[in-house]
Amino acid sequence: IADILRLENLQVRFPLQGGLFDGILGRPRGGVRAIDGVDLTVARGEIVALVGESGSGKTTIGRVITKLVQPTGGKLLFDGDDMTSVRGFSALRPYRHRVQMIFQDAYQALNPRHTVFDAVAEPLRSLRLVENNEKLTKRVSDALSAAGLNPPEDFFARFPHELSGGQRQRVVVAGALVVKPELIVADEPVSMLDVSIRAQILQTLIDLRDRQNLALLFITHDLPLAWLIADRIAVMYLGRVVEIGSADDITLNPQHPYTVALRNATPQVRDTADRGAIQALRGEIPSAARVPKGCRFHPRCSLAFNRCRQQEPPAIEIGPQHRSACWLAT
Ligand code: SF4
Repeated sequence: IADILRLENLQVRFPLQGGLFDGILGRPRGGVRAIDGVDLTVARGEIVALVGESGSGKTTIGRVITKLVQPTGGKLLFDGDDMTSVRGFSALRPYRHRVQMIFQDAYQALNPRHTVFDAVAEPLRSLRLVENNEKLTKRVSDALSAAGLNPPEDFFARFPHELSGGQRQRVVVAGALVVKPELIVADEPVSMLDVSIRAQILQTLIDLRDRQNLALLFITHDLPLAWLIADRIAVMYLGRVVEIGSADDITLNPQHPYTVALRNATPQVRDTADRGAIQALRGEIPSAARVPKGCRFHPRCSLAFNRCRQQEPPAIEIGPQHRSACWLAT
């Protein structure tokens, strides 16, 4: 399967306050390691979920892919082209047709003074993708319809405050679809919606993938939700992918102690059989300015042993397309 997106050893380091990267005044060396060597692929027509707590770096990855954050190392390849250092509005224009982002908060993403029509038409206008009003109306109408707002004309003249939360998020989805992207990065797109509306929006995204062969990177803190929608799941912890595999392997047969703890924190997917061996999540995720030495999960891991405190484990192949960055996998 052809990869549409490939991240190779991606790094994002932010300088500490004052612009310093180095270890003077007792500050840790290397600044804030928001993303610390991430390898990840998404194939055409594939849904990959990036799962982690807040502070894991998952949102930063979405912002790197959509070129809102510049990586400080590694590569961002899109459809085989190296996009890592491409910058500037006109140089990025073709890329912006092909990659779109959906944010969590539809209310913030929509201008309260713009009608639904204008909100969805905006990217077509700013990227100058249509020549006349007739084509513009057709594209907006098709996008609203694909996002589940039917009949689309009924929504053209409405304002965001006249819509329900689910309808607003569908308008945001339509605004992403209208440019006919090949990849959508969706950052917690349903976390502010009611459970019943969530399922409908997820189904809309799955349908879009099926009909248009869209690739989707779905960012969430919610493992059961990732299991519902994704083909593969990558679990992030403190700037790294600690486990990656099929959605079933990660949810039903997790191997990394962090994934096991995440899974155990969600009763929906916890088997009664393993209750005796529950691995609970202890404490808080540390700051990315103070990444622990060795395995970065060791201060919270109840299975940690000496080697874990000294050496960082690499991603180890433990099955078909299943890798875990844990010394226990060796
Ligand atoms: Fe726990 Fe050690 Fe595995 Fe890290 S390498 S997850 S500390 S057992």
